[in-house]
Amino acid sequence: MDTLVRRGMGVDQGCPRCGEAPETTVHMALLCEGSKLLWKLSPTRMKVQEWEGSFKEWCEEYIKHCKRERAWEITMMIIWQVWNVRNKWVFGRKLDDPALACKRSMLLLGEHEAAKIREVDSLAVGDQPNPSWKPPTRAMYKLNTDAAMPTNGGVGLGMVVRDGVGDIMMCAG
Ligand SMILES: [Zn+2]
Repeated sequence: MDTLVRRGMGVDQGCPRCGEAPETTVHMALLCEGSKLLWKLSPTRMKVQEWEGSFKEWCEEYIKHCKRERAWEITMMIIWQVWNVRNKWVFGRKLDDPALACKRSMLLLGEHEAAKIREVDSLAVGDQPNPSWKPPTRAMYKLNTDAAMPTNGGVGLGMVVRDGVGDIMMCAG
């Protein structure tokens, strides 16, 4: 989609929040002032700089340099909240508090982890434990992102994350 906008094929692509740039996925997720603030307030304390590539390329680059899995999990939750904050404003003219949005993303992450623990518990106490099952020694996260441009010219974000055991952790669209 970013390529289409660069080629001038998009229609009315101004960012509905800041109006200062075309609303590419990269702009929406990382570069818009509202999103930048959320990143800064998040546990990542990330100062988002300009990024010339696509959002998918940014994610791939980020994963490459991400030393801890936990950091990547947090990042996924922040991306999810950035998207929600954007939608609340665009569709409901409701300005979400970035600090609260950060807190929400950490709560979601806690719930996901609690669900994983419950799964392990139920396997441990089950009547017929599956002998071939063993906890993943190193969870691998695979991310598929896709940005689609609806015919009315909006921006869309599709995201599927899978960990080492094939759980879909997040699906946005
Ligand atoms: Zn913007």
